[in-house]
Amino acid sequence: MDFRMGEKSDEFAKEVADFLDEHLTEEVVMEAHETGTVHNWGFYKAMADAGYTRAAWPKEFGGQERDPFEMAALSDQLNLRHAPTDGSSVTLMICSTLRHVGTPEQQADIIPRGLNGEILICLGYSEPDSGSDAAAAATRADRDGDEWVINGQKMFTTLAHEADYVFMLTRTNHDVPKHKGLTMFLVPMDAEGIEIQPVHTMGGERTNITFYNDVKVPDALRVGDVDAGWGVMRVALTFERGGSMMGQSVRLVRLVEEWAKENLAPNGRPWIEDPLVRERLARANMLNNAGALLGLRSADLFNRGELPGVEGSMSKLFSSEKFLAICEDLVDMLGPEGVLQHGEDDAPSAGWVEHAMRHAVVTTIYGGTSEIQRGIIAEHGLGLPRTRKSDRARNS
Ligand SMILES: Cc1cc2nc3c(=O)[nH]c(=O)nc-3n(C[C@H](O)[C@H](O)[C@H](O)COP(=O)(O)OP(=O)(O)OC[C@H]3O[C@@H](n4cnc5c(N)ncnc54)[C@H](O)[C@@H]3O)c2cc1C
Repeated sequence: MDFRMGEKSDEFAKEVADFLDEHLTEEVVMEAHETGTVHNWGFYKAMADAGYTRAAWPKEFGGQERDPFEMAALSDQLNLRHAPTDGSSVTLMICSTLRHVGTPEQQADIIPRGLNGEILICLGYSEPDSGSDAAAAATRADRDGDEWVINGQKMFTTLAHEADYVFMLTRTNHDVPKHKGLTMFLVPMDAEGIEIQPVHTMGGERTNITFYNDVKVPDALRVGDVDAGWGVMRVALTFERGGSMMGQSVRLVRLVEEWAKENLAPNGRPWIEDPLVRERLARANMLNNAGALLGLRSADLFNRGELPGVEGSMSKLFSSEKFLAICEDLVDMLGPEGVLQHGEDDAPSAGWVEHAMRHAVVTTIYGGTSEIQRGIIAEHGLGLPRTRKSDRARNS
């Protein structure tokens, strides 16, 4: 077996690395770190100008038709360099969804602006009482002629404060099983009646609570049929899951390796010569390699025209949980100094380990929690019976 991604991917990775040398400045990285807003308009536009926002798209969209291995290389490079791509990746995911389920008008209006780095779309699925069980959404949309009137509240609407649209799950029918009464909309964020409240998470990331009070949305911005929103959301979810998050972890381990080479232990020798330090770094590297292979397995399935359902869940589960385990192990290895924050004197690896440990927790929650991924693997991969009511609703 050859686990390398191939010459084409290696060449593309090099091209992206050169692009990042030029466009991903320290200021761009630090702005995202300091504000918790993991998006930068200038960097997004530079990505679009270089064609990377449409790297996987067909030529008719001006795309580069990169294969899944090249896309994995792109994502690795962005993660390795801590590029602020949360906003662009969600926007591109919704553009891909619209390509499959949007109206010709939506495709003509939204997709080019997304691919050109001109608009941002955020996700409005979660609510205070429906996160994992997204089908229990209570935010309602009521028809009024050619318009819909939306009332409700969304939780964790990340980047709503920068976004042009929220891709929103609403309830349009109260008389049918919960997942059959949902409809998706692209709600313009400048519509009257929207209020945004910031939420600062322990991972340092800013997200939002958003409130919708008699927000009027034209029927033209409904995505998919009325009451068929669950199917639309499932299309979006296939674009969300599948990738590995291992790049962030690889970056962290490299930083700690550098620290271990440059700093001396009490015996006057570099820490990298300490067997216990070597053992921990070796263990972290092994986990990173295993996680990268799970990510490649998903890419391989995409390459063969299949969708990585269970394999995507395995990749997400493993990479997020091992990222957290690696962070905890490295903080433990660094001792009391391991919890010094970025900007504090004497913080090893400039405090990125402490930051990563807080951030890693969040990766086990968003995009579907670890328990939800385990449920998918158990049922769809191992054929075990469904046990929870909310699972039945989510998966039926
Ligand atoms: C930083 C951050 C950013 C986010 N950004 C967005 C965003 O932009 N848009 C958006 O819509 N959402 C976003 N989310 C929301 C995220 O998708 C939800 O937090 C997640 O789906 C879990 O939902 P919940 O928080 O309501 O927890 P709950 O669903 O209430 O879960 C609570 C606990 O119960 C467990 N649990 C729930 N159901 C089951 C089950 N069936 N089997 C076993 N265990 C179960 C969960 O694993 C968890 O441990 C974000 C979350 C965070 C933390």
